[in-house]
Amino acid sequence: MPGTDNAFVEFSGVQKTYDGETLVVKDLNLEIARGEFLTMLGPSGSGKTTTLMMLAGFEGAQGSILLAGRSIGNMPPHKRDIGMVFQNYALFPHMTVEENLGFPLKVRKLGKLEREAKINRALDMVRLGAYRGRRPGQLSGGQQQRVAVARALVFDPKLVLMDEPLGALDKQLREHMQLEIKHIHEDLGVTVVYVTHDQGEALTMSDRIAVFNYGVIQQLAAPAELYERPQNAFVAQFIGENNRLHGKVVALHDATCQVEIPGAGKVQALAVNVGGVGRSTVLSLRPERVKLNPAPGSLPNVFSAQVSEVIYLGDHVRTRVSVCGHDDFVIKLPNSEGTVQVEPDAVITIGWKTEDCRALDAS
Ligand code: ADP
Repeated sequence: MPGTDNAFVEFSGVQKTYDGETLVVKDLNLEIARGEFLTMLGPSGSGKTTTLMMLAGFEGAQGSILLAGRSIGNMPPHKRDIGMVFQNYALFPHMTVEENLGFPLKVRKLGKLEREAKINRALDMVRLGAYRGRRPGQLSGGQQQRVAVARALVFDPKLVLMDEPLGALDKQLREHMQLEIKHIHEDLGVTVVYVTHDQGEALTMSDRIAVFNYGVIQQLAAPAELYERPQNAFVAQFIGENNRLHGKVVALHDATCQVEIPGAGKVQALAVNVGGVGRSTVLSLRPERVKLNPAPGSLPNVFSAQVSEVIYLGDHVRTRVSVCGHDDFVIKLPNSEGTVQVEPDAVITIGWKTEDCRALDAS
C-alpha cells in the first residue's frame, strides 16, 4: 500500500499531452502494491487508458514510472514483461486456442515441455481444456475473453493490465467473468491494473479504486470507503446513487456543519469538503440512508416530503419525493417485514442522521 516499501508500480509526477497543449493526465502520483487489484474508474475521456498505455510502454510519459523499483521510461513494451487483455480480445484468428497461448511462450523461447505445462495450467485456470484445438471464431465471446485472460497470464507475468476486458460481453456473462477474474487474481497473487467505466465492476473486483476525472485522480480508496465516504461531489455522484441538496454553510463545528437549504430550513451534516461559513455546498445523501417516519426526536434532520412516484422493485421500493425544494429526491425502502407502504401524492415524514449526510464541494 502507499507509503510502504511494497510499491510494485509507482507513478510520480506523470503527465501526458497528445497535442502539446492539453494535459490529458495531470501530475499523476500513484503507488500500486505488489499483488494488488487496482482499478482505474472514470467517465470516458478521463485519462484511464492513457495511464494504462504509459505503464505498458505504448505511450510515452513525462515524469517517472517505476516497476519493481526500476525506471521503465526507456524500456520498450516487450521488455516490461506485462500481460495485457483488451476489450476486443486481440486473439490470433488463424491460430488455435493452444497456439494462441503458446505464442507468448515461444517469443520467450521456452522449450516444448515447459510450454505444454504452462498452456495446460492456463487452460485449467479458465476451464477451457476441452477447447484447445478450436480457433477463436469457433468460440463464444465469453470463451474468447477467457482465452485472452489465459494468454495474458500464461507466461507468469508479475503485472497484468486489463482495459475494459468485459465491455463486449452481455450483463450476465460480464458478472460471471468479473468473479472469475477476481478469483484468478486471488489464486495467483499477480498484480492487476484494471480499467473500466462501470462502477459495479470496479466495486466487485478491486482492492482499491482510483476514480479519474479530467486526468486527475479524484479519490483513491477501497470500494467500501469510496461508497461510504466520498471526498468530493464528483465521486459521490459517480459511485452509487446519491441525492444532492444545494445550500449554504451557516455554521461549522469541528467535523459537522449546519447548512441552510433555501426555503426549506437547516440540515445538520458532516463537514467533509466545505470552504467555510457562507460558502455554497452540496449535501450528498444515499437513498438507502433516508428513514421513513422516524420516531420523534430520534434524528436531527426531519422533513415533510410529498411522494411523486413509487416503483416496486422486488427487494426494495424506490420512492421519489419532493423535499427541501428538490423534486427528484430518491428513497429506497427495503422490502422487509414492517415496511410501511407509501402511495403517490401522500405527504410523509422522512429523516436522516448527521453522519449520513455529507457536505461536499459545490462544483
Ligand atoms: P479514458 O480511457 O478514460 O476513456 P483516454 O485515456 O482514452 O480516456 O483519453 C483521455 C483523453 O486523451 C481524451 O480526451 C482523448 O480524446 C485523448 N486521447 C486519447 N488517445 C489519444 C490519441 N492517440 N491522440 C490524441 N488524443 C488522444
